[in-house]
Amino acid sequence: MPSEDDVSRDAADDFKQVHDVIIVGAGAAGIGVAISVAHSGVENFLIVDREGVGASFEAWPAETRFITPSFPSNSVGMLDLNSVAIGVSPAFNMRIEHPTGQEYAKHLQGLANYFELPIRENTNILSLKKIDDLFHLDTKEGTLRAKKVIWSAGEYQYPSQGAFSGSDLCLHTSKVGSYGDLDGEDYLIIGGYESGIDAAYHLSKNGKSVRVFDQNCPWGEESSDPSVALSTYTFERIQSVEFETNVELFGEKSVQSITHDGSTYELKTEDGEVFHSENQPLLANGFDGSHKFISDLFEHRDDGFAELTDQDESTITPGLFLAGPMVRHDGHIFCFIFKYRQRFAIVAQAIAASFDLPTDEFVEAYKGWGMYLDDLSCCGQECLTC
Ligand SMILES: Cc1cc2nc3c(=O)[nH]c(=O)nc-3n(C[C@H](O)[C@H](O)[C@H](O)COP(=O)(O)OP(=O)(O)OC[C@H]3O[C@@H](n4cnc5c(N)ncnc54)[C@H](O)[C@@H]3O)c2cc1C
Repeated sequence: MPSEDDVSRDAADDFKQVHDVIIVGAGAAGIGVAISVAHSGVENFLIVDREGVGASFEAWPAETRFITPSFPSNSVGMLDLNSVAIGVSPAFNMRIEHPTGQEYAKHLQGLANYFELPIRENTNILSLKKIDDLFHLDTKEGTLRAKKVIWSAGEYQYPSQGAFSGSDLCLHTSKVGSYGDLDGEDYLIIGGYESGIDAAYHLSKNGKSVRVFDQNCPWGEESSDPSVALSTYTFERIQSVEFETNVELFGEKSVQSITHDGSTYELKTEDGEVFHSENQPLLANGFDGSHKFISDLFEHRDDGFAELTDQDESTITPGLFLAGPMVRHDGHIFCFIFKYRQRFAIVAQAIAASFDLPTDEFVEAYKGWGMYLDDLSCCGQECLTC
């Protein structure tokens, strides 16, 4: 836990001193990994965010809710699925099972206050370089320096674009303030995983007619892994009367192009079908990930994700760690909080050990909460089909 001195730090001093650790991003990953770093005994660390704590969650469309349910299961040592810190339950704190993004942002802000985390808000990291043994993080106000960096700048603020000709004519779902504000009667949505189906659901509730296109068929996927198939929450919503009445799903349909003649949008699929709408199509094709912003500091896998060591450290830039949904190992996708939170303590332990701090007790405590996943051979299990 940081001392009082750390908490009441002089923000101007941030540019003078060399921090042991700088954590970039104060989202679920940044706040969660910071708490682990504090628990591991490292004191001289700083979290930096271009906006504020939970900024990406605050920007979710107003109607979008967590698909993973929160439940106060902590009393038997099973951490609430949406918690980023041992002992904490968003369900208990908020009394909400499926929080909105805005509600979850408040939860993260509450955590930051409770754990007295040292945070520098409104500070955009413009570039990250390693010079000799120190990381230099350039901002508009000056250069921050650190011995280690944990990159947890997320994905949400880096939406995918350019997937097909005319994709820039679409409105990415991450830019929608509220589905209730969208006028017009019919919508084309490109992407049928969680964000696309979420958009279709809210539009259908508002009586809009919706056509969803996906190059695969997420709603027909047999896997029990929610990183691959739709979540239970979403399957339930697909069965609502409004969804069944107003939404048409087109699986295995790749979009080739979108054009706009000034009044009508025309969507062409690769198999030659043509669809029209007068309303701006919605793009729900995911995110590029902020690690692309510092791609020269990582080696890359064939799928574009960063090559990482067993401690989630860059294989070519020692001291640079990744935390959050961009973490990949083999075929394992850590895109949900309950998955990637299990790697926070791995990173914190590696950093604490590099400063010669003892970590045995810390690791035991995190293992006890299922918050220390070092053996990935247990991942990838399918649920039984009973
Ligand atoms: C619509 C939607 C629904 C989801 N539902 C669920 C769910 O139900 N359950 C679940 O577990 N997961 C869910 N996820 C995934 C979850 O939201 C993400 O895993 C989570 O937001 C990732 O947290 P993060 O901290 O990595 O990124 P973010 O929350 O995006 O935080 C990154 C932070 O970094 C800051 N930042 C970015 N670039 C810079 C920079 N250059 N300099 C300084 N600061 C920077 C940003 O301001 C931001 O605050 C959902 C995602 C979406 C998009």
